[in-house]
Amino acid sequence: MSAPKARPRPAARRELLAWYRANRRDLPWRRSRDPYAIWISEAMLQQTRVETVIPYWERFLARFPDVASLADADPDDVLTAWSGLGYYSRARNLQRAAQQLVKRHDGALPRDAGALRELPGVGRYTAGAVASIAFDAPEPVLDGNVTRVLTRLLAIEDEVGRRDVQDRLWAEAAALAVGESPGDLNQALMELGATVCTPRAPSCKVCPWRRRCRARTAGSAETLPRKAPKQAPLAMEAAAGWLERKGRVLVVQRPGRGLLGGLWELPGGELAKNERPDDALLRHFDEGLGLALSGAEPLGSVEHVFSHRRLRLHVFRCKPTAGRVRRRDWDAHRWVSPAALDALAQGGPLRKARARVAERAQRP
Ligand code: SF4
Repeated sequence: MSAPKARPRPAARRELLAWYRANRRDLPWRRSRDPYAIWISEAMLQQTRVETVIPYWERFLARFPDVASLADADPDDVLTAWSGLGYYSRARNLQRAAQQLVKRHDGALPRDAGALRELPGVGRYTAGAVASIAFDAPEPVLDGNVTRVLTRLLAIEDEVGRRDVQDRLWAEAAALAVGESPGDLNQALMELGATVCTPRAPSCKVCPWRRRCRARTAGSAETLPRKAPKQAPLAMEAAAGWLERKGRVLVVQRPGRGLLGGLWELPGGELAKNERPDDALLRHFDEGLGLALSGAEPLGSVEHVFSHRRLRLHVFRCKPTAGRVRRRDWDAHRWVSPAALDALAQGGPLRKARARVAERAQRP
């Protein structure tokens, strides 16, 4: 079956571009024409709010100013610069992609969306965004914001996850991208979704498309896009222990791939069925580190939600224990001063566990 085609909408394009030029937010990456800087911003903006991204983007660019410096960096430094942004596979993929760019493209980003998609972590959206914004190629983008705007503009009532609906939305976005300033047009679509055509209470009165929007006319804007019910995140339970020796705390590094891959954490692990948190802690220290804990004081639990999982982490302060670490379950381990923990690449669970330890230390 051939992909659907959409008709050009020159008037809608003009209205949107005029609105964008008058209303766009002044974001730091919009002041740059450097394809590398634009690519980094697009990678960071996936699943993450603009306000959160700005300081990360500025620090990342200061630390790794070009493809070559990112390709050559210590992977730990890249993860540290990413620490707190979540979805860490994005950072690992950025570095792999930078290494591929050095090897195959002399360290420059290709202008062509097809070639961009061959890079690790670059999907159809990112390729379209970089090709259009950095190189003014007439390539479409379709993210959550664009999906919302287009399903409302066209009053698409079918569930947006359906293949045929996705194909139609891509076709509509592709038709819009063709013409003057495709990069601005794509950014305008995303900006409209982020600032005017918001999920709840869209500001239709100030929307450049208010006269042509079918969902507004039908009064159905807030019900669109229709999505399949979300599956509840899978519940996980784990235990982690704060073990200190001579003022240094033991941390371990997760394997490079998978959930929180390459990040540092407190030793511990998941509870087996019907296992008590303290038993799980002792078992993981024994099996994963060869350390026989003589006991641990419970400090309560913290919660962390990943995209598909909800983790309840029981935090313990371990009783001092002797013996050398004989590590089996992690890629590396270190004894670090609590003050040096900030410099480690870490995810939400370690940050929350540290806060719990600090909070309990302050109690009389
Ligand atoms: Fe969204 Fe309202 Fe504009 Fe339609 S008129 S695109 S619903 S903001």
